Amino acid sequence: MSYPDVELFIAGEWRPAKSLAKLEVLNPATGTALGTVSRAGKEDLDAALKAAESIFDEWKHTSPMLRCQIMRRAAELLRARADTIAEQMSLEQGKPFAQAKGETSAGADIIDWFAEEGRRAYGRVIPAREPDVTQLTIKEAIGPVAAFTPWNFPINQVVRKLSAALASGCSIIVKGPEETPASPAALVGCFADAGVPAGVVNLVYGDPAEISSYLIPHPVIRKVSFTGSTPVGKLLAGLAGQHMKPATMELGGHAPVLVFDDADVDDAVSVLAASKFRNAGQVCVSPTRFMIQSSVSEQFIDKFVRKAESIKVGPASDAASEMGPLANERRIPALEHMIADAVGQGATLRTGGKRIGNEGWFFEPTVLTDVPVQTEIMNEEPFGPIVAINTFSNDDEAIAEANRLSFGLAAYAWTRSSSRSQRLQHEIQSGMISINHIGLSLPEVPFGGIGDSGIGTEGGADALEAYLQTRFVTRKG
Ligand code: NAD
Repeated sequence: MSYPDVELFIAGEWRPAKSLAKLEVLNPATGTALGTVSRAGKEDLDAALKAAESIFDEWKHTSPMLRCQIMRRAAELLRARADTIAEQMSLEQGKPFAQAKGETSAGADIIDWFAEEGRRAYGRVIPAREPDVTQLTIKEAIGPVAAFTPWNFPINQVVRKLSAALASGCSIIVKGPEETPASPAALVGCFADAGVPAGVVNLVYGDPAEISSYLIPHPVIRKVSFTGSTPVGKLLAGLAGQHMKPATMELGGHAPVLVFDDADVDDAVSVLAASKFRNAGQVCVSPTRFMIQSSVSEQFIDKFVRKAESIKVGPASDAASEMGPLANERRIPALEHMIADAVGQGATLRTGGKRIGNEGWFFEPTVLTDVPVQTEIMNEEPFGPIVAINTFSNDDEAIAEANRLSFGLAAYAWTRSSSRSQRLQHEIQSGMISINHIGLSLPEVPFGGIGDSGIGTEGGADALEAYLQTRFVTRKG
């Protein structure tokens, strides 16, 4: 499988950076060079801004029906190219082919959903107080968007922003992930080949801080969307706020998991282990802080540890691999530090805990139990294949622990009691809660956090609203 030298996509053309600067792309399964990606400079960003600005009015006034048809063509192309794109994603990101293919196909479903939803971006007629007055709200595209996406889901993170922006009638500049540039470029290629006019979609790579500090304050940009860590999100939301630009922020999480003594423990173990170790735990909604009711805790822990130990970790080139390497080398010392900190403060390491081999960035599925609440892992997002398991004796205690942190992205619970489920859905402070299954991240449902986990949603009808502005018209006679 060959890997492309990825270029920038500006004003409908693939081209290198004006300076010809490039960054190296590494293969996380070997740690060796895979290819290159062009590194945009100011001149390239100016060209992207000009392109996004010049086409904006035309795209905004393109009928929603036509926008929908073009987008649905892009979805078809993405489906048709899914095998090749998924192979590239596996190479650059490390995830097994089946997961990469699943992400790519799900991307096509996201495009379809937003394409259709864009046809339903209705304004309103508001009953007036006088018979000859007409009051209307008009929903219209907010303007050119600057979007910043990370490396953990190279297609999914881009396609949510891209689809919502295009369906609303916005043009967009995406700053894609430098670590995993080929698969998002292939996604953008589907939109280009489907007939999206030049300039509506632009894709750049480079120095993230340099690009965000130039694009966000720029007068052409009217909307900002970012997915990544909470500290960076706060920085970028602050910058957007200074320039009075709305910002969607999909940030870090620290998902609590509550397993009660009336739960189907086997089901909980198998579903949660699959979810935890998917994408090597580099998922913002990854289950992390497990709380198991004391009477079922040993049973749960034994089974979960056995499941973690059975996971086949290996390169995507081995079809039997269930979990790939970490996408970035820097995650290894971060995880090692978290584990040493937890064990040093009294936690028990039940399995895993270290890097596998010295080629590539593989890490063992890791389970810690009896983890003191003040340890780093109990407070910072691990973003890796690590689980911290503690026990609880009653519902109040479990809910209090679930709500202890300022994050509020995903939460999970297993219980057969419907009254308890009712209580959890009201009292757990998270943007999303999934009870007795993992049911998040579908195109038609909200996806987003509260508190330090972010602002706004990237799924469901509200996601489209984020790219629209509402204007009010009142007319007499
Ligand atoms: P990081 O904080 O350095 O970067 C996170 C993302 O933000 C990357 O995509 C990076 O390119 C981008 N970024 C960083 N500084 C930026 C800036 N000034 N302007 C624009 N973009 C910027 O962390 P990392 O080592 O890449 O990833 C680890 C942490 O990031 C994790 O702990 C996790 O909290 C977070 N993360 C979250 C998601 C998510 O899906 N919410 C995805 C990736 C990373």
